[in-house]
Amino acid sequence: MVNLFGLVGQSITLVLGCLVLAGQSWQLAIALLGSSIIFSFGHHIVKRSGNYNLAAKCIFYILIGLMTYLVYSGGMDNTGPLWIYVVPPVALFFFGLRRGMIDTLLFIALIAGLMFYQRGEWLAADYTQSFKVRVVLSFLTVTFLFGYYEYSRQLLFRHLLVMRRKYEREAKQDSLTRLSNRRGIAELLDYEFSRILRHQGRFTIMLCDIDDFKKINDNYGHDNGDTVLIALAETFSRSTRKQDAVARWGGEEFLLMLPDTRLEEGTILAEKLRRAIAAKTFDLSGASIHLTVSIGLAEVSPSQDVDQAIRRADTFLYKAKQLGKNRVVAAEQSDLHSVSTLVEPRV
Ligand code: GH3
Ligand code: MG
Ligand code: MG
Repeated sequence: MVNLFGLVGQSITLVLGCLVLAGQSWQLAIALLGSSIIFSFGHHIVKRSGNYNLAAKCIFYILIGLMTYLVYSGGMDNTGPLWIYVVPPVALFFFGLRRGMIDTLLFIALIAGLMFYQRGEWLAADYTQSFKVRVVLSFLTVTFLFGYYEYSRQLLFRHLLVMRRKYEREAKQDSLTRLSNRRGIAELLDYEFSRILRHQGRFTIMLCDIDDFKKINDNYGHDNGDTVLIALAETFSRSTRKQDAVARWGGEEFLLMLPDTRLEEGTILAEKLRRAIAAKTFDLSGASIHLTVSIGLAEVSPSQDVDQAIRRADTFLYKAKQLGKNRVVAAEQSDLHSVSTLVEPRV
């Protein structure tokens, strides 16, 4: 936009400068053509340095200088003041509501001073008193209308930003448990994987599935099933560290990401979680129940990416189910790190 404003200013002043040159008004022609050259500088500042702030200031203050000169000289046949109405939109666009309004009001104060001081003694042009009054009043009207428009635009923009953040957050969040959903955790996993690639580190993934959850739904209803999912999500969040991430991976399946954690340490945590959940009482409407979970773990390392690790953890989870549920499996059947059947399922 700064480029566009510069280009428009450059073209208009060039065309007007040539017209005035043909009419042999030398001073005005020099002012217009000079402005055209300086506008093109603004354009080059942006192109060369990418410094939009400097270019915007350059374009704006040249515009103010040119407008002041047009009012002072009258331009062609005293039509100079007609151009000053471009100042408010340019100022508001470049500098925002506060600074744009201040600059615009300072400009009109300067113009009013120039036009009314000693009934126009400082002017080269000759305007009637009523024309000058109407120029100032109409300029102020236009300024406040533009200001109000800019204010509404900013309000709407802020509102859109808030909505965007909200929808972005919700797109990554499971609405029932408020945990990350698949999309949310996928981002965190990608980030953590790129981090361990840099440091040659490793982290552990834990897939946790509720045993016989269908029975809870069947026996106590879907709403109570939801209550269990929420309670379990809280248990996971409370029992893990701040840097760990807990996500709802599917219906009654959770994924835990444990940064800076080796498989052995992850397995110990998984076992602790399994026992804690098996010992917990879930209060549903009119009933207290117990449930168990099966857990599969795998380690992510530079040689085993996230997808491979998730597939491995899923295989181990399946194995845990096959072995009778309510257990943790973190390695191949031949060298199991941990297989536990400490608490018998009571659901
Ligand atoms: P397993 O021990 O083999 O995992 O058996 P399971 O019954 O837990 O597994 P299964 O895949 O047979 O059933 C999963 C159930 O989870 C079925 C589905 O209705 C329920 N479920 C999935 N999402 C939700 C949910 O958001 N709320 C509730 N209440 N139930 C859900
Ligand atoms: Mg299940
Ligand atoms: Mg399942």
